Amino acid sequence: MPIGKKKNKSVSQSASSGKLVSGEQAQEMIDRLCQTYPESECELTFGDDFQLLIAVILSAQCTDVMVNKVTPVLFSRFGTPQALAAASLDEIKEIIRPTGFFNAKAQNIQSCAIALVERFACKVPRTVPELISLPGVGRKTANAVLGVAHGVPGWTVDTHVSRLSARLGLSAAEDPNKIELDLQSRFPGQDWSKLSITIIWHGRRCCYARNPNCPGCPINHLCPSSLM
Ligand code: SF4
Repeated sequence: MPIGKKKNKSVSQSASSGKLVSGEQAQEMIDRLCQTYPESECELTFGDDFQLLIAVILSAQCTDVMVNKVTPVLFSRFGTPQALAAASLDEIKEIIRPTGFFNAKAQNIQSCAIALVERFACKVPRTVPELISLPGVGRKTANAVLGVAHGVPGWTVDTHVSRLSARLGLSAAEDPNKIELDLQSRFPGQDWSKLSITIIWHGRRCCYARNPNCPGCPINHLCPSSLM
């Protein structure tokens, strides 16, 4: 059922009110989301951690569906750090154009590949400080790569996790780094990567940025922003 303009405004107000839920309520909401999406996983397709890193960089301001259309072509030609580092920048731009912001993204992924070749012996590093030293890589990307490719726990604070952290009353912060700290303090470390993906799935399938589907939401009786 579509939700009207007035009600949608209520969600925004609640999201910025700073109202936080108890630890018990937070855990109950998360448990129910995990039960709802037991199959949740990263929706980007990739062959190894380098390809995942590039796919995550390309996913900024773009859907995973679109990234998955572009990366098979990109990786068939430039599937390794060496190949991408040596590629024609214009050719990279042409391939990744559908993902948007393609000039900046092409520069970033090639600079990232060059840095991997020059500083990390063509390997993707496995620590956040090393990863965020790469061009185009922030904490969100670093945590996503470490969590998905290597099982290192971390919160991927993307647009969905930011929005849902506010709506669910898990964090009153707006800065992604502060949201990450709030989420770290609320849930056990071994669960962070899985919970990130679960929250992202809920944001994509139910708690939309506009017109969240509160009537169909499995946690509408617990969520402080519910329109029910
Ligand atoms: S009830 Fe569900 S869909 Fe509605 S704001 Fe809360 S989490 Fe989002």
